[in-house]
Amino acid sequence: MKRIVILGSTGSIGASTLDVVSKFPDRFQVVGLAAGSNDQILEDQIRAFHPKVVALSNTDAAKRLRERVDTTQIEVLEGEPGLCDVAKFPECDLVISAIVGGAGLKPTLSAIQAGRQVALANKEPMVMAGQLMQQEALKHGVTIFPIDSEHSAIFQSMEGHRKIDIRRVVLTASGGPFWDWSASDLEHVTLEQALKHPNWKMGDKITIDSATLMNKGLEVIEARWLFDIPSAHLDVVIHRESIIHSLVEYCDGSVISQLGHPDMRTPISYAMNYPERVPLLPPLLDLGKIGKLTFSPPNTEKFPCLQLAYDALAGGAGLPATLNAANEVAVHAFLKNQIAFLDIPKVIQETMSAYSPTPLATIEDVLHVDQWARQTAKEMMKTCVTPV
Ligand code: NAD
Ligand code: MG
Repeated sequence: MKRIVILGSTGSIGASTLDVVSKFPDRFQVVGLAAGSNDQILEDQIRAFHPKVVALSNTDAAKRLRERVDTTQIEVLEGEPGLCDVAKFPECDLVISAIVGGAGLKPTLSAIQAGRQVALANKEPMVMAGQLMQQEALKHGVTIFPIDSEHSAIFQSMEGHRKIDIRRVVLTASGGPFWDWSASDLEHVTLEQALKHPNWKMGDKITIDSATLMNKGLEVIEARWLFDIPSAHLDVVIHRESIIHSLVEYCDGSVISQLGHPDMRTPISYAMNYPERVPLLPPLLDLGKIGKLTFSPPNTEKFPCLQLAYDALAGGAGLPATLNAANEVAVHAFLKNQIAFLDIPKVIQETMSAYSPTPLATIEDVLHVDQWARQTAKEMMKTCVTPV
């Protein structure tokens, strides 16, 4: 029986994780759950899975929840310290990190520093502080298992192979809903259109990131630190069908990849059960019926966010954290209909241009850059965007 904590349990990855748990009740026991502000969903999850401790970052929501559950049976914590306490809950074997955004950095780090194994969906902390997180993981004997489908595919394609034989890693990208739109059509993208992903049902933030291709940029940076592969060996290809989840090319010309229906329960369950596989038994992958798989190079002129992510990796220091923070601010504003779709890369680019490098030695340094970049991006939004 594996005892698990889920950070971000009320979200899309959280729900898929709990779905895997309910399919294999003999394998997993949920000991802790944490989320942002949805006390209603968390209450339902408490009744279904009986965790010992939960936390909500929103203190009002935590208060409401305390009034509705039996607090002699369950501890309800609040705020960031509460999330960190759930992350390092002692009777736990694996922490599923699935909060969205930089808000997941401290809780995920708490889990690592407490020596918990981590299954990582929350890519933003890896973008902000990948090197520091891996250093901490090494220090505390922690393995970070990827949940992101591309990284799970890379991980699976590296199994049984020597890392020095890798020539390059190719991340696949669906291209999002606007892949074949013209540059002028992109000026008129609506929020509703951007929230309709062709292949995946996900949280709002990552859905917008997929539409701008920033998601792939974040994933390139995530792969850089998860697998310790320099960016010169990390490529991206557009693959509309989301069947091939990424590829690893070896020095002898062999290309190994992992295929499957686009269903996050597959990579989630692989990270949870590694090195075993469990019978999720989705419909068979009928390639004869799918007929063809298509590929094309990414267009970074129409979708500059991907290039900005490569630039951030090349610049190093706090530039990836700056990219991430500016993106979070811009996407948040787009989700509130305050800026246009094409303003998102503009805000990020302007914020990155304003960054002057300082050494990043500690997590506090990262958080300082993050705060500065959020503030700067908000300032940039006043000047560099077109009114909606
Ligand atoms: P979501 O918006 O559906 O859920 C986010 C979760 O984080 C919720 O439980 C929410 O309550 C919690 N949260 C938000 N702000 C918080 C805060 N300040 N403090 C504590 N908790 C907070 O998002 P999602 O689609 O499940 O994505 C979660 C993460 O996984 C993201 O980093 C995303 O990039 C990554 N990811 C998601 C998918 C997917 O298919 N959804 C695939 C790969 C990677
Ligand atoms: Mg992904």
